[in-house]
Amino acid sequence: AKSTGEGEARLFESSMETKADRERLLRGELQNALTNEQFHLDFQPIVDAETGKIVCCEALLRWNHPKLGSISPTEFIPAAEASGLIVSIGRWVLEQACNDASRWPSDVKVAVNLSPRQFSGFGLAASVAKALAVSGLTPDRLELEITESVFLSDTDDNIRVLNGLKSLGARIALDDFGTGYSSLAYLRKFSFDKLKIDRSFVTDVAVSDENLAIVRAIIGLGRSFSAIVTAEGVETNDQCDCLRVEGCDQLQGYLFSKPVASAELIPMLREAQSG
Ligand code: C2E
Ligand code: CA
Ligand code: CA
Ligand code: CA
Repeated sequence: AKSTGEGEARLFESSMETKADRERLLRGELQNALTNEQFHLDFQPIVDAETGKIVCCEALLRWNHPKLGSISPTEFIPAAEASGLIVSIGRWVLEQACNDASRWPSDVKVAVNLSPRQFSGFGLAASVAKALAVSGLTPDRLELEITESVFLSDTDDNIRVLNGLKSLGARIALDDFGTGYSSLAYLRKFSFDKLKIDRSFVTDVAVSDENLAIVRAIIGLGRSFSAIVTAEGVETNDQCDCLRVEGCDQLQGYLFSKPVASAELIPMLREAQSG
């Protein structure tokens, strides 16, 4: 038993080392990724649950490295956050997303993910205002998605920033709702325009009474707070039917579309408009 334990310990150490090495490598490579134009945005449609019409598209950052290939945002976003590079990368995402969306039909909004790191300092509202001004996008077409981690530090300062973003005319969505430690507490601190039900609840909504109860409660909360409720990660017709019966406002997931490149999105939006 003793030798097995030591073997496991060694295995653990070496995998930790590999992970740290990989993170160091990515951090270094991220430095030049912006200037070398290795980033692009994909967009994932979000549809109205009643009409099936595309009402919004979420910008999702993609990094294609010439040697390392395509790297998942779940891997490089934490590295960019740790190094602080997320601030300049996030600014690029905002500008690019607003520029792209300014060419879409005017009833389609764009959603942009914000990292908590972008809230420190005073630059965020100015970056958002600039992205709107340069693109000419009307502010109410911009949705900013945050997670409750924004509330974990500098709460009062961050709420001031959120109110600043709202007074610019942008909408604020609470992403991954239900997964955090105290999501409910934040509903009292800030008036969100949208709640996004995390995929982990949506996956089993049609087969698990517990998940159905949670989804139902979130939809009820959204209604009480006059917030739109979006379900993410909708993959099957059963999930879709169930969410529609429960009165969920908007649906997002592979059932409707995977995230697609901007060039592929425009014909989808045109087709949706004419049809
Ligand atoms: P998120 O904001 O929760 O985005 C939703 C993720 O779920 C995306 O993964 C999307 O591709 C995936 N997804 C959508 N529909 C389905 C589905 O039906 N089934 C399954 N299994 N997955 C689905 P992605 O693109 O890998 O992004 C992962 C995370 O990276 C995002 O989670 C977000 O937290 C972060 N991220 C992506 N782009 C940005 C960005 O520009 N800025 C910041 N700060 N974070 C970003
Ligand atoms: Ca999101
Ligand atoms: Ca999410
Ligand atoms: Ca997520």
